[in-house]
Amino acid sequence: MDVREFSMLMAQRGCVGNEKNYCGSFNNYPFTARFLNGKTGGKTTALLQVQFNKKVPSKMTKEIRKEHRGQVSVYKVNRSTTTGYLVGGVVGAAIASANSNAGENAGDTALLSLSITARSTEEFANLLDSVLNQIVQIAPGYGLFIPDACPVCAQPGCDSYAYTKGSYRAVHAHCVQANAQAKQAKVDKNLREGSYALGIVGAILGAIVGALPSIVLAAMANYILAVLFALVPLGAYYGYKWFKGKMSKGVLGIIILISILMVPVMQYGEFLMDEIVNYGAFYSPLSYFYDISFALSHNASLVVVSWGQMLFFMAIGLLIVGGIISRTGQKDVLDTSFSAATLRPINAAAQPTAPQAMPTAPPVAQAPVAEQTAPPQANI
Ligand SMILES: [Zn+2]
Repeated sequence: MDVREFSMLMAQRGCVGNEKNYCGSFNNYPFTARFLNGKTGGKTTALLQVQFNKKVPSKMTKEIRKEHRGQVSVYKVNRSTTTGYLVGGVVGAAIASANSNAGENAGDTALLSLSITARSTEEFANLLDSVLNQIVQIAPGYGLFIPDACPVCAQPGCDSYAYTKGSYRAVHAHCVQANAQAKQAKVDKNLREGSYALGIVGAILGAIVGALPSIVLAAMANYILAVLFALVPLGAYYGYKWFKGKMSKGVLGIIILISILMVPVMQYGEFLMDEIVNYGAFYSPLSYFYDISFALSHNASLVVVSWGQMLFFMAIGLLIVGGIISRTGQKDVLDTSFSAATLRPINAAAQPTAPQAMPTAPPVAQAPVAEQTAPPQANI
């Protein structure tokens, strides 16, 4: 099964979602199925997740694996993303975890996460039924049940399911809708009242603050630490946000431009610090300009290498920030509207629904709130 076949199968079974992620319920057990990989008409692996009230014992997953030998395994999240490898350390780990899209809430031990593999579409459909059926049968024996408290307000008496906080679970419809409306209103307000000019001022100030650690380290210890360069675009981004800059698609472009322009500024800062610390003298921007022109005309390769090196480290920082930006801002709204679009009443009649259009782009112009009269969620 490729992703298109997966999407068709899940939609046929009355699940709601976008191309890769589907939410459904099986005997009142809400679950998500996420396409991981697969070939057209062939082998497929998907991630099946069910949110429980407490830690899922390994004895239970062992039981499921035994019943479906070779087809089911416990899903483990590979946290060492590319950025994780590149920067390493605390910063890297924090960013890698922020970026781990596959297997959201991976740290949540109450979230049963199984990867299931089948060789054909038909086999996959049967396997999904079989695994879900076994979960429903054995979970109560382990003291596990589907949490009945709404994750938004923490109160019981849920009336619907929605994809919220990393899993498909019982919620109050009005809680999810109010959440989506509040998020959308915030974005609308930013697009209406946010200012590019103020944002850019904030971004420049933020970038300067973010550049200070690199400048100090380079001037004091003559040492460049790539991780610290990530603070420049990061500072620019938070500065932009803090100064109420308009959060449009152009934000990343603004951050990239300011970060690149920071390279000579950082070099000047480094010279300036060096002069002040070692000679007690002020190194003017004019002398920096003169020195650089002199160096460029006499030994251009040295200057180019030095700038190239800084740009390279800056690019790593930008990569990280790109990830963070895509996780926040518009993405936040996208998540919220995804959540609202998966909203289905509990115990709806079993009736497959037509595939639904889901937001795949930031849905700024559209109302993200699902109608209460949305097609009922089928039990598959
Ligand atoms: Zn609630």
